[in-house]
Amino acid sequence: MNIVVCIKQVPGTTEIKIDPKTNTLVREGVKSIVNPFDTYALEEGVRLKERYGGKVTVITMGPPQAEEALRETISLGADEAILLSDRAFAGSDTWATSYVLSKAINKIAQYDIVICGRQTLDGDTGQVGPELSEMLKIPFISYVSKIEEIKDTHIRVQRMIEEGHEEIETTLPAVITVVKEINVPRLPSLRGSMKAKTAKIPVWNAAEIGAEADKAGIPGSPTRVVKIFFPKREHKSEIFQGTVEEQVAKLVERLEKII
Ligand SMILES: Cc1cc2nc3c(=O)[nH]c(=O)nc-3n(C[C@H](O)[C@H](O)[C@H](O)COP(=O)(O)OP(=O)(O)OC[C@H]3O[C@@H](n4cnc5c(N)ncnc54)[C@H](O)[C@@H]3O)c2cc1C
Repeated sequence: MNIVVCIKQVPGTTEIKIDPKTNTLVREGVKSIVNPFDTYALEEGVRLKERYGGKVTVITMGPPQAEEALRETISLGADEAILLSDRAFAGSDTWATSYVLSKAINKIAQYDIVICGRQTLDGDTGQVGPELSEMLKIPFISYVSKIEEIKDTHIRVQRMIEEGHEEIETTLPAVITVVKEINVPRLPSLRGSMKAKTAKIPVWNAAEIGAEADKAGIPGSPTRVVKIFFPKREHKSEIFQGTVEEQVAKLVERLEKII
């Protein structure tokens, strides 16, 4: 079974700062980590390999330093990791990101399942998984909390819904996004850490995956960040003077005006 896991390197904090001039994330001085939801996607990929045999290939689209995140996935059981990096990918929104990922997955050609996290810590849209399945023209299941069984060309899973769980079956290949209830990710093994240090991480650029220039990066991104702002909360306070009766009367008068 050939398993592809998509991961993203994100700032290791929820205290994200925005550059007010460029409307982009301030990444300087912030430690990067593998997006937490993607560690569950990777763990599930490794568990599927252990259950059914096969190979786990991890891919990420990102700048050169995302290689560090890919090495971490090798220490956690991935067999191969590929970095998709090219200046032409810079400025990609979720649509262009999914396009690049889909081109790389098509280049991998032999795949049975693509596993993504439910969402990222920074972009937080949860759009990449569904967009990816649309571009690959294969089925999609979101919020997967358990993989029950894979038999021949079918997969049966449980997915989380507000009222409980749903059991769904579909054909492979398919894209799934997973929630953190699906497993408990393992820690890196000594053998894995040694392998991660020396592993070769191929870097695929736009030409190598056959990505068209006007479909990636800024030209391929229909979304524009028009404005980023923090909601302003105004706090006002007032102390009523006088006797208790006078203060209560003033308070009632004020409340009546509000209502
Ligand atoms: C106009 C615009 C310009 C942008 N420019 C940049 C930029 O220059 N640089 C930049 O870093 N970001 C940029 N972004 C943000 C970028 O588009 C998103 O971070 C990215 O598309 C993923 O969206 P998300 O973080 O919401 O992922 P989600 O949809 O929340 O992620 C779901 C899952 O998809 C997978 N996934 C998501 N992203 C990747 C990835 N890159 N590689 C592999 N798997 C992935 C993971 O499994 C993840 O758990 C830009 C966004 C917009 C709207």
